Amino acid sequence: MSVKFIIAAIITTAINTVHCQNFIASANIISIVVPLLNEEESLQELHDWIAKVMQSNRYLYEIIFIDDGSTDNSWEVIEQLSEKNKAVKGIRFQKNYGKSQALDAGFELAKGNVVITMDADLQDNPEEIPELYNLIVDENFDLISGWKKKRYDNVITKNIPSRLFNAAARKTSGLKLHDFNCGLKAYKNEVIKAIKVSGEMHRYIPVLAKNEGFTKIGEKIIQHQARKYGVTKFGMDRFVNGFLDLITISFLSKFGKRPMHFFGLWGTFMFLFGTTSAFYIGIYKLYKVYNGIKTILITNNPWFYIALTSMILGTLLFLAGFIGELIIKTKSNEKHYTI
Ligand code: UDP
Ligand code: MG
Repeated sequence: MSVKFIIAAIITTAINTVHCQNFIASANIISIVVPLLNEEESLQELHDWIAKVMQSNRYLYEIIFIDDGSTDNSWEVIEQLSEKNKAVKGIRFQKNYGKSQALDAGFELAKGNVVITMDADLQDNPEEIPELYNLIVDENFDLISGWKKKRYDNVITKNIPSRLFNAAARKTSGLKLHDFNCGLKAYKNEVIKAIKVSGEMHRYIPVLAKNEGFTKIGEKIIQHQARKYGVTKFGMDRFVNGFLDLITISFLSKFGKRPMHFFGLWGTFMFLFGTTSAFYIGIYKLYKVYNGIKTILITNNPWFYIALTSMILGTLLFLAGFIGELIIKTKSNEKHYTI
């Protein structure tokens, strides 16, 4: 069983849905997907704010709260909200799986033709939803990413590192976005059904969408607020994880479907370099012995170790590419195409 399926199985058994949904996109419904971890103080206020905006614009809507293993009363608040407002749905994880998994579970349930994601901490403003909706429906964008141009977060721990992340993500993905990791985004339903958000890939959802062939990706400057209640859920480890994920995603977007082209090329190159060096030192030694010139043992020659290491590394790289291809070929969900 692949890792993807194990995660899916864990999440499926861990979730507890308040309302059951079918998964067919319905016209003119907005699905608002809200991942949350210990945000009990914000939920009522966020719900009322979203509901006000939806009612004043006469939108049909659903709000999907995904409780990502909260240990406070967030789930009780969601249950109360869903009793009063039938548009509120909830998914509960038995433990904290992370924001990416929470979004992924919400995406699976979302049935609106337009899907909006937003954070639960009241930092994102629901008043932005109508304009985001219009950009998707009227201007036919696949994805609109929010841009917190004026950001109300800590300058040292958030704003400066986030500029570096965004510059690196722009460079590797070719997408000209200023704020990849903004919680407030709008999508066509096809986009969220086509992507799989795992690990901590929520930071790079526009790149995942681009990799699935959705190219009409834009951004919109949005209002951002300081966190009103509670604390941020992401510590310093997000710097390391963010950069590692960026490397993974740029590798996968280029070679995810053809690992042999990367590993095979470098493997062959290193193996040839190693064998050529080995031949060279062997022939050079023979030449010296044959002509009676004083010489050292081959194993005392540093080139011997360089040649040996290159040959071993080359073989390993080649094998990694070969195993990568085998995994791809045997994957059961091989027929995953976006039409
Ligand atoms: N969140 C989540 N699971 C986690 C961490 C965070 O669902 O493991 C939610 C969190 O409750 C919030 C959103 O993701 O609704 C963004 O988190 P946070 O506000 O802490 O991030 P920041 O704005 O500080 O980058
Ligand atoms: Mg926040």
